[in-house]
Amino acid sequence: MAALTRLLRSAVTSGSTARISLSTLASEPKTGFPAGLAARLAPSPARKGREDRNVQWVFLGCPGVGKGTYASRLSQLLGVPHIATGDLVREELASSGPLSLKLAEIVNQGKLVSDEIIVELLTKRLSKGEEKGESGFILDGFPRTVRQAEIIDGVMDIDLVVNLKLREDVLLEKCLGRRICNQCGKNFNLASIDAKGQNGQPDMYMPPLLPPSQCMPKLITRADDTEEVVKARFRIYNDKSLPVEEFYRRQGKLLEFDLPGGIPESWPKLLQVLSLDEHHEDKQLAAA
Ligand code: AMP
Repeated sequence: MAALTRLLRSAVTSGSTARISLSTLASEPKTGFPAGLAARLAPSPARKGREDRNVQWVFLGCPGVGKGTYASRLSQLLGVPHIATGDLVREELASSGPLSLKLAEIVNQGKLVSDEIIVELLTKRLSKGEEKGESGFILDGFPRTVRQAEIIDGVMDIDLVVNLKLREDVLLEKCLGRRICNQCGKNFNLASIDAKGQNGQPDMYMPPLLPPSQCMPKLITRADDTEEVVKARFRIYNDKSLPVEEFYRRQGKLLEFDLPGGIPESWPKLLQVLSLDEHHEDKQLAAA
């Protein structure tokens, strides 16, 4: 994947400066993606035939829909890394590096950071994985703009894009109930959702996802999970990320999945539509 990480870097920096400056931190409309880049690319492992590598999947969906939860469960089942660009951004913030203050300002307002920054963070993560011999991935929170989708499309094959969907009122409740343990880093949710069905849809019940007692006193709320910022993130999703759904719909890669409820109802249904079962990995091992 060395070729891949080099190419990702060159795709995003070509025609602009290679170094990231503060002025490129915030996301702005860009038009300069180099035409015909894909045609000039050297073959990379990510372009290998599907049978020679692990899955390369993307999870799309509004903030709070549960991309992290389902992507992480699937990554364990399929034995591929779960790469969440939101986590990469939060790691960068926690590092108190030179960009962290400026990044915090953008993230805490619910805005997107620039395509350059996010591709740089993803490239670094892929390089680390490559050194450890990783193959395949499930991306969560990337791509979030059509330009990001074009960049990734230019350097690697995405096999499948799962688009998770949930009513906006439920999404808001879920975001406001979200908590993270500041010691173990696990995500929990204190919201108990009991929403009346709309437009002929059944009622929706989602029990809280409570932490074990040792995490309870260490729970923190993300700075971008306030009502005002969550609503801003929904607007940005509709503006910048809905076109990404369309991008993959046109490629015939988009799998729409309406979450029927909480994890106990949704997980088995998701496995069913993906033609997977809980014992997928055991079966792969037995067949090897
Ligand atoms: P998330 O945890 O996915 O909600 O991401 C948290 C924040 O990180 C977002 O609100 C953005 O500010 C930033 N971020 C994560 N992924 C991306 C991306 N692909 N493009 C731009 N900004 C991103």
